[in-house]
Amino acid sequence: MAARRISSLLSQSFSSSSAAAPLLQGRNYKGIRRLGTTGAAEELIMPPVKVEHTQLLINGKFVDSASGKTFPTLDPRTGEVIAHVAEGDLEDVNRAVSAARKAFDEGPWLKMSAYERSKILYRFADLIEKHNDEIAALETWDNGKPYAQAAEVEIPLLTRLIRYFAGWADKIHGLTVPADGPYHVQTLHEPIGVAGQIIPWNFPLLIYGWKIGPALACGNTIVLKTSEQTPLSALYVSNLSYEAGLPDGVLNVVSGRGPTVGAAIASHMDVDKIAFTGSTATGKFVLEMSAKSNLKPVTLELGGKSPFIICEDADVDQAVELAHAALFFNQGQCCCAGSRTFVHERVYDEFVEKAKNRALKRVVGDPFKKGVEQGPQIDSLQFEKIMKYIKYGIEEGATLESGGERVGSKGYYIQPTVFSDVKDDMLIATEEIFGPVQSILKFKDLDEVIRRANATHYGLAAGVFTKSLDTANTLTRALKAGTVWVNCYDIFHAAIPFGGYKMSGQGRVKGVYSLQNYLQVKAVVTPLKNPAWL
Ligand code: ADP
Repeated sequence: MAARRISSLLSQSFSSSSAAAPLLQGRNYKGIRRLGTTGAAEELIMPPVKVEHTQLLINGKFVDSASGKTFPTLDPRTGEVIAHVAEGDLEDVNRAVSAARKAFDEGPWLKMSAYERSKILYRFADLIEKHNDEIAALETWDNGKPYAQAAEVEIPLLTRLIRYFAGWADKIHGLTVPADGPYHVQTLHEPIGVAGQIIPWNFPLLIYGWKIGPALACGNTIVLKTSEQTPLSALYVSNLSYEAGLPDGVLNVVSGRGPTVGAAIASHMDVDKIAFTGSTATGKFVLEMSAKSNLKPVTLELGGKSPFIICEDADVDQAVELAHAALFFNQGQCCCAGSRTFVHERVYDEFVEKAKNRALKRVVGDPFKKGVEQGPQIDSLQFEKIMKYIKYGIEEGATLESGGERVGSKGYYIQPTVFSDVKDDMLIATEEIFGPVQSILKFKDLDEVIRRANATHYGLAAGVFTKSLDTANTLTRALKAGTVWVNCYDIFHAAIPFGGYKMSGQGRVKGVYSLQNYLQVKAVVTPLKNPAWL
């Protein structure tokens, strides 16, 4: 069934580094000795890529920040510096916005045909595909995600996404509207202008694609801020957009901190639209900054505490595998992680035992190493936060089935952790942990689980595992979430809209729905004959 196919696809991407292997073997790497995740001395694999771009990308050129300041980006495997990256601030944002404004108002971007814009985006996608493995290596190095996941899943998804939006570029058009009286009424769907975009560190390039794809397809220009934890891959990829023929100033990347660069973009009077992915707390700031500046329209993709519901008719082995992937994928650092695993009482005991055993088998280690399923968490702050939640789980009386400890003594590795006997009001069941911590809750019947699953301010995603069509139909209608995956999880094709109900966000990314975030509608009214009032 679908669930098996998808979970095996996910587990393949975790367990076989077939794409990584030739790349790693093809060059000479100097191994660095370090304490391995099991405590034994282990080689630290040198990433098969050089860091080429660390400056800001403004008006099609790499430049230093106005202040000359830099910040270090760290390797989550060790906490050591990978590179020093130009640190933007207000003045750099002003420069980037001016470049984007000029490119929108005067540049060739909007003067060229939609077909020409589409061709540039297709070339951009071809270049991403061509450099897939270097990009994946940068992503793994800066973020800590398994190389196979980056190389075989995420960068191909980015390529596909840019092609998807390249296809839209010359298919955006308005309507002819029937109107009373002798008038011809048409709507023009026009780009909004300069789009500000702020992205997080957990999927630096996938979310980058979700943001720039629709904005460019609709003819906007962009000032994008990457996360200060993961600035490298977007600089590399954005440079390829210029190699593909993007006119200067269309895509500007300003690396830096949230309260400086992020706030400067969100409150800028000459930024016409803002799109943000990150925490709910920062999302509220972004909305406020829009309100206090020029009321730019805001799209938000925020946090979640998504229920994954395993019904009594479930095949337990399949359910365990899928629930495991739904939570532990990307080190548990997913806004849509299935972080409340609700299991029907009839299969609960068997599920808990098997979920524990699956977690114990999860391979944690250097994300460049073949067969590794879980790398380090992004940084020391997140690491400490997750360890605190594990402590809360124990203190509040949940049963620690497996894990709970750090792995090794260097970097930010955490054992895959499973809690059972979790109650709805425990912190591990209410707050977003963003780490490899599975919380298993027991339920008796559908009405009860619907009520409990919806009893949260979040509403990003939900998962349902059942063989019954009736149960699936009931749950998909009742769950208040922007995505409900039935017998699958984390399916992220370019055409599928993604976004949140309630405090998980506003608007949708990906798919046809995302285009409306980057368009405004102009009604043009003309008399059918000479002036109607004559
Ligand atoms: P996360 O938990 O993913 O770090 P954040 O919301 O803190 O979530 O960060 C997501 C993005 O928002 C990052 O690029 C970060 O730099 C940016 N950011 C953080 N604080 C602010 C702020 N006050 N204004 C604008 N952007 C911010």
